[in-house]
Amino acid sequence: MTVKLAMFGGPRTIPKGDVDRTTIAWPVVTDAEREAVLQILDSGGFTTAGRGGREVGLLEREWAAYIGADHCAAVANGTAAIELALAALGIEPGAEVVVPALSFMASATAPVQRLLVPVFADIDPATFNLDPAAAEAAITERTQAILAVHLHGLPCAMTELRRIADRHGLALVEDAAQAHGATYEGRATGTLGDVGTFSLNPSKNLPTCGEGGLVTTGDPAVHERVVLHRQFGEDLSGERDYLSRVLAGNEKLSSINAAFTRRQLARFPAMREARDANVHALLSRLSELPGVVVPECPPGRTHAWHILRLRFDVEAIGHPGVPPGAFRTILQRALRAEGVPVRQYQGVPLPGQPAFQDHAGFGGYPWRLPNARDVEYDPADHPGALAVIEDSLTLQGWHLNPAAGPVLQRVADAFEKVWQHRDSLAGLARSLKYRPGAPNARVAVPR
Ligand SMILES: *Cc1c(COP(=O)(O)O)cnc(C)c1O
Repeated sequence: MTVKLAMFGGPRTIPKGDVDRTTIAWPVVTDAEREAVLQILDSGGFTTAGRGGREVGLLEREWAAYIGADHCAAVANGTAAIELALAALGIEPGAEVVVPALSFMASATAPVQRLLVPVFADIDPATFNLDPAAAEAAITERTQAILAVHLHGLPCAMTELRRIADRHGLALVEDAAQAHGATYEGRATGTLGDVGTFSLNPSKNLPTCGEGGLVTTGDPAVHERVVLHRQFGEDLSGERDYLSRVLAGNEKLSSINAAFTRRQLARFPAMREARDANVHALLSRLSELPGVVVPECPPGRTHAWHILRLRFDVEAIGHPGVPPGAFRTILQRALRAEGVPVRQYQGVPLPGQPAFQDHAGFGGYPWRLPNARDVEYDPADHPGALAVIEDSLTLQGWHLNPAAGPVLQRVADAFEKVWQHRDSLAGLARSLKYRPGAPNARVAVPR
């Protein structure tokens, strides 16, 4: 017997207000965080430069120890972390950086902030990460670095990327903003490239109560330069001399943020373990549904499960003629009506962002620099990223909470219910006026 879809007036699988907020809230804030933040308020040690350095320094040491890095520097946010990593590597303005075509915009804006030209390479649609062959094909005589984004929490194919970087004499930077604690061949993200960067944004797996980031490296000279570049180019290790050794901005972490994150880090291994079990239980049910492609984790890697991206294979569903983007649009409507907050993560590949289409940088820079190449950006060059954007939806947030196990089972219930109606939903998708590349928010769905 099938139950009427909530989208057509049937009962919602997860009724409004029926989920215990404490099982899906993120970050999980306990008395440990409250007390740590209050202690900072009472101590008056707010900044990295003054007495407030204590919590910042402890967070740096504890994160380095946790992932097995030699050095860690805490910075203002994950975007600043990438920017500072590129600065510390000494990459010159006008040089090119290979960036995956599918990522959060910050992976591409951080190089531009250093006057570096991002050159996009396609992803492997099975892992959502940089395709090593595409990365190598994007290299020119101007390329100086590859930015390996461990998207959604899965480490990139680092052995292949390291080999390519070495062959061409390039730096290998990891954007691990979504991959705290994930491992590749037994080693943690942030220790796999020349420099690793993390975000502590509250939406990420290791959150703070505001903004924050971390930069890790095995190279003491790179670490020293990150530290110098985060604080006006000044050496703040002793008595302040107000001398800037390099031109640099202010991208320090504040101590309240460090204190909060240290308490999160204390519970991080346990939360990671619970999340892993909850996500596996959800994905094993979803993988039973014909045409639902759950994220893979190749052997030798562990996944941080930051974002769960599900692809929908219209052919396996039995409707090869339906445009994947139209089916995805209808599916999003149906699942949301059941109470499942699925959404799109990125509606266009990075080169399709208006800022890149229009070269809306700094007065036309970095592309106008005399030594730079005036790269034209065409999303059509990246069929892997386009296909994934067309045929997938993401689950974000809920599953990060270690107590989300039961609600994730209800998410699976909702998918199973919707899947019983897949033929009529495919029929609806077929009748949709759908233009590929249109973000869901712009598509009108008939009722
Ligand atoms: C979140 C994120 C960033 C930026 O981090 P912020 O702390 O928000 O500046 C960079 N890259 C990726 C892949 C991200 O998901």
